[in-house]
Amino acid sequence: MKPEISVIGTGRMGSALVRALLQQGHPTHVWNRTAERTAPLLALGARAAETVAAAAEAAPIVIVNVSDYAAGDRLLRVPQVEAALRGRLLLQLTSGSPGQAREAASWAARHGIDYLDGAIMATPNFIGEPGATILYSGPAGLFERHQAVLRVLGGNPQHVGEDPGHASALDAALLVQMWGALFGALQGIAVCAAETIPLAAYEAQLQAFKPVVDLAVADLVGRVRQGRLAGDEATLATVSAHHGAFRQLLELHRERGLDRTVPDAFDRVFRAAIAAGHAPDDFAVLSRYIG
Ligand code: NAD
Repeated sequence: MKPEISVIGTGRMGSALVRALLQQGHPTHVWNRTAERTAPLLALGARAAETVAAAAEAAPIVIVNVSDYAAGDRLLRVPQVEAALRGRLLLQLTSGSPGQAREAASWAARHGIDYLDGAIMATPNFIGEPGATILYSGPAGLFERHQAVLRVLGGNPQHVGEDPGHASALDAALLVQMWGALFGALQGIAVCAAETIPLAAYEAQLQAFKPVVDLAVADLVGRVRQGRLAGDEATLATVSAHHGAFRQLLELHRERGLDRTVPDAFDRVFRAAIAAGHAPDDFAVLSRYIG
């Protein structure tokens, strides 16, 4: 018999977690603030918990996935629920900051609750799939002990540190890279619109350009890790070369009267480095001007 699991919060993500657990034969108890969001899950075989405390009592592993930590805290930090959670594993899969995760871990420790903090690096449609990554931080022993269940939620569970804040921190570091790409694409869409370039053409050229960008990102992170910030034989493009091309982007924005909020932020970083004499250095030197 596979372990029973309780899931508190069955929004888009919580529902996907429940479906993955049911598919793999875990008896699964569900609680949600509004009952209508649990109805489709009950139809699949999930069991309704009447209260949060009942959900906590129903299973040795309790997953929380609500919109934010404040909402989760209001549900969990009541004496009856704290008592019910004692000796169980609480998997906090709600997105939060590293500080919130650390604070939650110390609250859990005070109440004798085993605690792992998770960051889901996937959208609901990937949950339960072999490639779905969920980052976990907290005691490695807990992660090892519960690997089988963690693998049901996402086929690629990763323990990223004993510090309970590290899953959230790595989540932030990955998401900011994603937003860089998404905001960049928004700027590109604005350029295409101003220059009457069909978006299908932009889409096609983004695909063709992707390997170059992926390698440049990998090269950047590697160089910063190794401290190779000066321009050298292996430098792909110096700060000066990057900024030369970047100035053309700014010029296009002037010509077309486009909003410069995003490019101006990049320009400030370039200019700070150039003013300090880093024009001939590798792009990686900009790491000194962010952070
Ligand atoms: P959602 O809006 O679909 O669901 C939110 C859930 O939180 C619902 O079950 C709602 O009832 C519950 N909730 C909100 N406030 C509450 C309160 N005060 N008391 C009780 N319950 C409350 O959102 P979602 O997409 O399922 O996201 C849930 C969490 O998962 C978030 O922390 C989100 O950042 C994280 N996450 C989502 C995705 C995604 O692609 N959807 C990816 C990674 C992480």
